[in-house]
Amino acid sequence: MDSTPPQTPREKLEAWLRYYDDLNLGAFYTDRRTMPKRASKKRVPVKALASKAPAAKKEVERPAIAHAPVKATPTIPVLPVISAPSMFDVTERIDGDTLERIREDLGECTRCRLHTTRNKIVFGAGNTHAQLIFVGEGPGRDEDMQGLPFVGRAGKLLTQMIEAMGLTRDQVYIANVVKCRPPENRKPEEDESATCSPFLYRQIDAIAPKAIVCLGLTAAQSLLKTKDSISKIRGQWLDYRGTKLMVTYHPAYLLRNPPAKREVWDDLQKVMALLGLKVKKVS
Ligand code: SF4
Repeated sequence: MDSTPPQTPREKLEAWLRYYDDLNLGAFYTDRRTMPKRASKKRVPVKALASKAPAAKKEVERPAIAHAPVKATPTIPVLPVISAPSMFDVTERIDGDTLERIREDLGECTRCRLHTTRNKIVFGAGNTHAQLIFVGEGPGRDEDMQGLPFVGRAGKLLTQMIEAMGLTRDQVYIANVVKCRPPENRKPEEDESATCSPFLYRQIDAIAPKAIVCLGLTAAQSLLKTKDSISKIRGQWLDYRGTKLMVTYHPAYLLRNPPAKREVWDDLQKVMALLGLKVKKVS
């Protein structure tokens, strides 16, 4: 795939059309040339109207003004304005979608600026039939180098959390809102999340888990379309298109603030109960 970002309006439009095509939104515009013509209203001759109208004062006849002949101006093709799809646009489930097909559609993605600084795309990893999906914000340095999610320090802590639940990483699926590392590990910009997250939505639909755990606010905002703070939405069952969703703190936050592990463990125990895993008491 050509990795040069689109420059001209036409190239940008073509890139958006390819993007919609990748999301299986093929029929997102209507070709007006193929639309049936509107039934035109039958015009009533002016004379007929005049005969019905009350007699009007006779108008003074004005001399005709001589106009210079109007030159035909060349038609400039106008490209339609297409704004970036919002994170709320893709709501349709695609029947029979698979992770392989989603990965294929993603390709060597250049849809947002994050591609310019990434080393590897971090698509996601784990069990394709997982009952539980963890969703983080975006890849960090180690993830970018290896092309795998949550393999750095925060990833090691996530692995411990998963094992404390009585599971292994192979039994769950792990993905992020954006699949390329934001420079300096900054938070993804809204347009970057909006462009990338439809692929995450497709991954979730394809796996159809029993529960989703959002690690941090960025993941929660992407899936729940909420502006609430993490303290408001953490630790309770929420709904993501009919699937139970739990928001908890990101492992990177726990590395900076270890006492918050207690709250995360409380959240994970609720997930364990839902999945029928034996809930352990931690003193
Ligand atoms: S972050 Fe997502 S949308 Fe942006 S370039 Fe990477 S894969 Fe493509």
